Amino acid sequence: MDTATIEELKERLLNLKKEINSRIKKNLEKVNSLQLKGDEGDFSSAVYSRQVLYDLIEKDRNHLKEIEESLYDIEKNTYGKCKRCGKEIEIERMKSKPTAKYCISCRRVIESGK
Ligand SMILES: [Zn+2]
Repeated sequence: MDTATIEELKERLLNLKKEINSRIKKNLEKVNSLQLKGDEGDFSSAVYSRQVLYDLIEKDRNHLKEIEESLYDIEKNTYGKCKRCGKEIEIERMKSKPTAKYCISCRRVIESGK
């Protein structure tokens, strides 16, 4: 991958990171503002909303971890290389998913569980 493309993807990763961090913050504030009181109906809907928010936060945190790992790979100059076979990951794949760790064929093997 050429330097310009890496820079472009790094920029996207950093923006994504900012976006996710502020979303996590907002969702945490929402969790804190949920009132766990009232009648039983209010209570269970608040519990449900809280669970939904926690799931979103959890998903965002995992995504954030992937972004951090990709940024670290950029620093180490291993970004864009498949973690399984070591070949360069298809550029189109990196552009559609900047946190991709495996090339398409390895991804298929991993997903098929062999
Ligand atoms: Zn591979």
